[in-house]
Amino acid sequence: MILPGSLQAGNLATLGVMGGGQLGRMFVQAAQAMGYFTAVLDPDPASPAGLISHYHIQTDYLDQAGLAQLSQRCAAITTEFENVPAGALQSLGAQRCVSPSADAVRIAQDRVSEKAHFVRCGVACAPYAVIDCADALAAVDVALLPGILKTARMGYDGKGQIRVATRAQLQTAWHELGQVTCVLERLLPLKAECSVIVARGRDGVMVNLPVQRNVHRDGILAVTEVFDGVLPAAVAARAVDATRAIAEGLQYVGVLCVEFFVLDDGALVVNEIAPRPHNSGHYSLHACDLSQFDLQVRTLTGLPLLQPRQHSPAIMLNLLGDLWLARGDEPVTPPWDAVLALPGVHLNLYGKLKPLKARKMGHLTVTGATPQQARATTAQAASLLGIVPP
Ligand code: ATP
Ligand code: MG
Repeated sequence: MILPGSLQAGNLATLGVMGGGQLGRMFVQAAQAMGYFTAVLDPDPASPAGLISHYHIQTDYLDQAGLAQLSQRCAAITTEFENVPAGALQSLGAQRCVSPSADAVRIAQDRVSEKAHFVRCGVACAPYAVIDCADALAAVDVALLPGILKTARMGYDGKGQIRVATRAQLQTAWHELGQVTCVLERLLPLKAECSVIVARGRDGVMVNLPVQRNVHRDGILAVTEVFDGVLPAAVAARAVDATRAIAEGLQYVGVLCVEFFVLDDGALVVNEIAPRPHNSGHYSLHACDLSQFDLQVRTLTGLPLLQPRQHSPAIMLNLLGDLWLARGDEPVTPPWDAVLALPGVHLNLYGKLKPLKARKMGHLTVTGATPQQARATTAQAASLLGIVPP
C-alpha cells in the first residue's frame, strides 16, 4: 500500500501516469488532492496533465531513458489512454507496481483480441468478421452488411471507421484504411448506448459507478446522462453484470469502462472496453462521493475501494473545439459567465491552448435535485452555448 503523504526517498510518494491528456490531468488532480506527488510521461510539452504535474517527462512512450526516469521517480504507475504501447507498460511493470497490467491493455488495444475476450466471458457483441487479407475480405458473409469497418488498432472518437453498405464499398474502405487488420461489424439498430465503469483492486474487490446513458454525435461522445430511470432497471443490471464478468475475466486491476449498445428489441450488446477512466464517467467528479479518478488512485495505491454513491442526478455535455470556432475562423471564448450563472453547472476545461474542430476541450457537468431540474438547466446551458440539447 502506498499511503498518501508518505515519504519515498526523501520525497512525497509519487504516482506516475503514462499519457498527459485530459484523463491524465484529472488523475493528477485527484492524486494531488490526496497529497501525492505526480509524474507524467508525454512527449507533448503542452499536454494537459504535464502542465500541472510535479514532474513532466517529455519523451516518447518507448524511450528507455524516459521510462527509466518514470520508474525511478514513482512508487506506482498507471495509464490514461489505451494506445500507450503495451510493451512500455510491460517494462515498467518489471520494476514497479503498474495497473492496469500490460496484458489487459494489450487485449483492449486490439479489437480482435477484445472481441475474443467478450466471447470467452459469454458476453454478446455485434456479429463481426476479421479482415486481415484479401481472401478474408472476399469471404465476408453479406449478412454483415450494412456494416462498419473498423481498424483493429489505434481507433478513437470514431476515427479509423468507415460505414459500408455493399461489397464494393467494403473493398474500397479496406484500401482507404491502408489494408491493415480490421473488423467488419454489422451495423446494429441502436435504441440507446450506455457504459459502466468498474474499479477492481489487487485483492479482487470490485465496485462500480451507476450505469451511464451516452449519446454520440459524429462518432464522438456528446452527452452522458446518469440518474435512476435513464435505462430500464433490467438492462442496467445486465450491463453491470457483464462489465463485472469482463473485468473478472481479465483479472483486471484498475479502472475499466465497458461500452454497450442497447438494441431496438432491448438486447444488450457489448461494444468495446477502455482500460482507464472514461469520458462517460466525468460526471462522477461532481455527482458522486468517489469519482472515477479517486477510484484510479485507490486501485493504484491499494487504498480501500468503496462502492461510490451518486448523490445528484447528473448530465455531462462534452465541449468540443467547434464551440470556440462557431463565430468564424478566429477562436472566440464561449460565454462561460452566463453558463456559470446557472445553478448546478460545473465547468472543467483541460488547459488546451488551441481549439480545433472535434477536439475535446472540456466538459460541463450539470447536477440537479431531480433529473427534471438537471435537464432544464442543461437545456439552458446548451442554448447559451449553441449545443443541440440532449
Ligand atoms: P470512442 O473512442 O469514442 O469510444 P471509437 O472510435 O472507439 O470511439 P466505437 O466505440 O467503436 O469507436 O464507435 C463509435 C460510435 O459509433 C459508437 O458509440 C456508436 O454510436 C457507433 N457504432 C459503432 N459500432 C456500431 C455498430 N456495430 N452498430 C451501430 N453503431 C455503431
Ligand atoms: Mg467507443
